Parts: sequence; C-alpha cells; structure tokens
Amino acid sequence: MATPALMATPPAVTPIATPSALLPVYKRAPIELVRGEGIRVFDADGREYVDFTSGIAVNALGYGDEGLRQAIHAATDGLIHVSNLFRTSPGEKLAERLVELSFADRVFFCNSGVEANEGAFKFVRRWARTVGSLAKHEIVGLRGSFHGRLFASLAATDRPAYRAPFRPLAGGVSIAERDLETLGKVLAAETVAALVIEPIQGEGGVRVFDAGYLRELRALTRERRIALMYDEIQCGLGRTGHLFAYERVGVVPDIMTLAKPIAGGLPMGAILMTEEIGAAIQPGDHGSTFGGGPFVASVARHVLDRVSDPKLLQSVRTQGEWLGASLHEIASRTGRIREVRGTGFIWGIDVHEPASEVVPRAREEGLLLVGAGDHTLRILPPLVATQEDLGEGLRRLERALG
Ligand SMILES: *Cc1c(COP(=O)(O)O)cnc(C)c1O
Repeated sequence: MATPALMATPPAVTPIATPSALLPVYKRAPIELVRGEGIRVFDADGREYVDFTSGIAVNALGYGDEGLRQAIHAATDGLIHVSNLFRTSPGEKLAERLVELSFADRVFFCNSGVEANEGAFKFVRRWARTVGSLAKHEIVGLRGSFHGRLFASLAATDRPAYRAPFRPLAGGVSIAERDLETLGKVLAAETVAALVIEPIQGEGGVRVFDAGYLRELRALTRERRIALMYDEIQCGLGRTGHLFAYERVGVVPDIMTLAKPIAGGLPMGAILMTEEIGAAIQPGDHGSTFGGGPFVASVARHVLDRVSDPKLLQSVRTQGEWLGASLHEIASRTGRIREVRGTGFIWGIDVHEPASEVVPRAREEGLLLVGAGDHTLRILPPLVATQEDLGEGLRRLERALG
C-alpha cells in the first residue's frame, strides 16, 4: 500500500483557553470531581451526579467500593514493582485465572487499551508469518471501529478527524466495509494476517454484532488462516452480562484485548491468545517495563473475581434488559430518541440534536453521559448499579432530553 502523502497545508489550529497547565487535548466539562460513592460522583461544590459513563467503562465496581479499597490496601503490603526480568506471583496467578475463564492459553500484560492493541497487532503479524508467507501482514479493521490513538491502532480506527492530522499512520493496517460480501473479498487477499473487531463497537455508536455475522467472520478467517482478533477493551469483563462479550454469541476469537475495567481504575491492559499464536512469540519480541507488575496484578485479581461472579453477571443481564426496555419506552413516549441499541450495561441512544448539546444538559440535571459519534449518547453504568440507581439516572436523562 502506498504511503499517503503528507498534507501540503497543515490543518488550522485554534488556540484553546485552558484553566491549567495541562495540554488541552480534552474538552473537559467545567466541573471538578472530588469524591464518589456507589454510582454517584460529587463535584467541588458538593453537587451530586449519577455516573452513566463509569469513567468510560472503567469503574465497573462504581465508586468507594470497600472490597476494591481493601484489595488495593493489601497490595501495598507486597512489592509495587521489580521489572519483568524476574518472576512475580500476582501476574502469574492473574494470567492463570484469565486462561481458566476464557478461550486463551497465553496472556501478556501491558498498561492500557491502545497498548494492548498495538501489542496484539505485533503478535498476529509474527504468527501469520510463521504459518503463512512473509507477505501475510495486513491487519484489517471495520467501518465504525475504535481501537485507540497510537499509530497502528489509529490506522485501524475509523475516525477521520482523529487520523487526518497525524498521517502517515502505520502501514499494513486498513479499514473494510462491514458487509459480508465486501469483507469476503478483502479477506481473500493472501496478504491479510488478522481481522480486528469489537464484538460491540463502542465509540462508533454502540453497534452490537449478532451471532450470525460473527459466525460468518469466524468461518471466513478460519478458512483463510487469518487471526480473528476481538477488541473487548470496552465491551468485555462483565459489561454484557457475560464475563466476555464473545460468550454472549459463542463465537471464539484467536486473540483478544482487554483493558478499561481490568484493574479497578489502575492502568492495565491484557492480550489473551491461543497457544498457536503464543507459540510464535520468542523472548525479546515484545515487552513492557510496568506491564503486569505485582501491585496492579493483585488489584486486577480482585476485580476479576468480582466481575466474573455469576450473581453480578446475572444482575447485569436482568437489569440490562430492564434498562433497554426502559429506554425503548422513553423513546416511544417522548419521541426524543430515534434509535436504541445495546445489551447488558452498554447502550447507545440516537438523538435528533447533536449529542454534544445533550451531554451538558444532562450534567445540569445531575447525570453524566458520554457521546459516541455526532448523534449518539452512550449509557455505561457501573456494573453494580441497582434498578433504583438506573431509574434515577433515566429520570434525569428524560428531563435532559426535554
Ligand atoms: C478505550 C478503547 C481503546 C483504547 O484504550 P486506552 O486505554 O484509552 O488506550 C481501544 N479499544 C476500545 C474498543 C476502546 O473502547
């Protein structure tokens, strides 16, 4: 693939007034959050908000969770860091548990979602060249995808505004249309090493892929010896009411990335893979200074025990059904919602006006929401939310919709 030419004229940059020394890469809301409890957070003026963002799908256990606090406290009694030059038990135990609970045989730990995807892209490329030819290298993402903001993940991410100012992005990574006919043709190329897909597209507007579609992709990739990679950074670890989103549809990947909620708000990412892919990786092929250190791994073990608890998962399925039904009901009663999509505790609602206008109104009503595209609002409550919590959030949502 040809390297896209650098743009002749750089995009215009408008300086942004910022109240602090922080680099202004975020459009931050003008509230300062200081404390949290359950599914609620409080700002410096003492105002209370129901959090339907969960810190963007991170705070699965909500705020001020006593078990998490104790796990963090206990972890400070052990080593914080010693480097990956030595064995440490918490990371090994966490990996073993992830293997018991999933399709995977091997686990690599890193420090964020994008880092997990970048690492997984390296692993599938290495694997593809051991089973195929040297030409087998291409990583194919899907229309509507989001995989992160570093060069290769960004190349697999279908957000023109995120990409344009930073070209050239990593080569050998492309985006394909979602329809099976086109995908079938794209995947027929000898050069394709992996297809990467979010089983539920998050930032791209909460698009839930059905079992039939994923089964077709599984068959196509298996037939062509292409790795099927799931990015479950947002939709995994309990959010669908199943520990992993793929369990909902029963279509298993070859490699999968996790991050957001995995360590209760501490930075961590993970790459889970089959023995076959793992066997292609040699010492020295990849690494991370912090990845899977004893402190963060101990905390993640607590989170994993909690989010894999069948009672919690059942609650997410039951409450999630109620949440979806309630959103449909609000949509038909108010006419303010065009479409409702989702499952479990991950929902997207399309509104007529720009999402960026509804989000601040919701905040005024005491509800935190995050957009997903121009006209979609995302609803990602902490997994511990009760029906009463959800009901309170929905009342505020309805007031914000006007
Ligand atoms: C958030 C997200 C990422 C990136 O994770 P970071 O930890 O922000 O790097 C990648 N993929 C998906 C699906 C995400 O939701």
